[in-house]
Amino acid sequence: PYTGPTADEILAQRKEYLSPSMFYFYNKPLNIVDGKRQYLFDESGRRYLDGFGGIATVSCGHCHPDVVEAIVNQTKRIQHSTILYLNHAIGDFAQALASKLPANLKVVFFTNSGTEANELAMLIARLYTGSHDIISLRNAYHGNAAGTMGATAQGNWKFNVIQSGVHHAVNPDPYRGVFGADGEKYANDVQDLIDFGTSGHVAGFMCEAIQGVGGIVELAQGYLPAVYNSVKKAGGLFIADEVQCGFARTGSNFWGFEGHGVVPDIVTMAKGIGNGIPLGAVVTTPEVAEVLTRRNYFNTFGGNPVCTAAGLAVLKVIEKEKLQDNAFVVGSYLKERLNALKDKYEHLGVLIGKGGFYGNVFRITPPLCFTKDDADFLVDAMDYTISKI
Ligand code: PMP
Repeated sequence: PYTGPTADEILAQRKEYLSPSMFYFYNKPLNIVDGKRQYLFDESGRRYLDGFGGIATVSCGHCHPDVVEAIVNQTKRIQHSTILYLNHAIGDFAQALASKLPANLKVVFFTNSGTEANELAMLIARLYTGSHDIISLRNAYHGNAAGTMGATAQGNWKFNVIQSGVHHAVNPDPYRGVFGADGEKYANDVQDLIDFGTSGHVAGFMCEAIQGVGGIVELAQGYLPAVYNSVKKAGGLFIADEVQCGFARTGSNFWGFEGHGVVPDIVTMAKGIGNGIPLGAVVTTPEVAEVLTRRNYFNTFGGNPVCTAAGLAVLKVIEKEKLQDNAFVVGSYLKERLNALKDKYEHLGVLIGKGGFYGNVFRITPPLCFTKDDADFLVDAMDYTISKI
């Protein structure tokens, strides 16, 4: 049994010693002391079904034994910076990761977070093209360092950052967007930004195939191929931010961009690739990767043995347990049941994660090991709760 401090004591301690900017998703945050697959347990041992997966960071389930074992074994042998000595863990994961990507996307740079991965991707695109301008989408979230905060396009995540050379295109949101589900019409805005807001040359275009923080917004079909043409004509690279939507989460594909028939020049990832361990990556082609040899580039802990051993274990679990197939089957079922709920009630209350600029969107990003029974439980719980509002 748990004998540590209570939720109230933890909150008081956090108030005194941690950043005043920390926010909570719940009015009365839970004290979570254990996790097992798709379940979380509070201090009293009460079990919760986790429909948010640590914001899509938990892919194969909390404390998956294979991942825990890989982390513990590697920690016992050696944990170190990546820049000094040889160790096989980093190369093993890089090779396994490259095998999951199409075309010649096979050179991996490891980072510690999604923000770092996107900062590096923007740097690479600017170096490779010799251009500065980056186009991203309104309602995007790409990180909270200087460059990525500029690429992020929701005011509530931004300070007075100097938004050097970033243009935000109209969001091809098929649900609320001005052109409905007509992807090609939205794509004209990217061409307009290039024509009227830049020299005609851009460094790149960056987007999520499904906006996560923005409120699980899918891109209108037909958008990416059209944008891809405009960006290529302007000499730019296409950067796919797969931090939240990648790694088997869409079920139908391993990567979100694959549902749109385009192959990016650079793919960034984090969150689910480490099942909760801090790990991010940028994958690109050998030709594009070459630009970083012009100077020295390193990342002290990016790709360290413990994190990459975890990453490799995660990939193996996804394959062994066919979690992508499971995400497809259970995800489709969950969507079907949620759509039925949408027809039943005019509005929905907050139960899982919330997102979107107005905080009005349920973010349901469970571990990939969610079962049909879990989906039923989740929807039934929502049904009950909404009926009480
Ligand atoms: N890109 C996307 C799509 C994200 O959802 C996030 C995190 N919410 C990031 C980048 C930044 O990742 P991190 O928080 O690991 O820096």
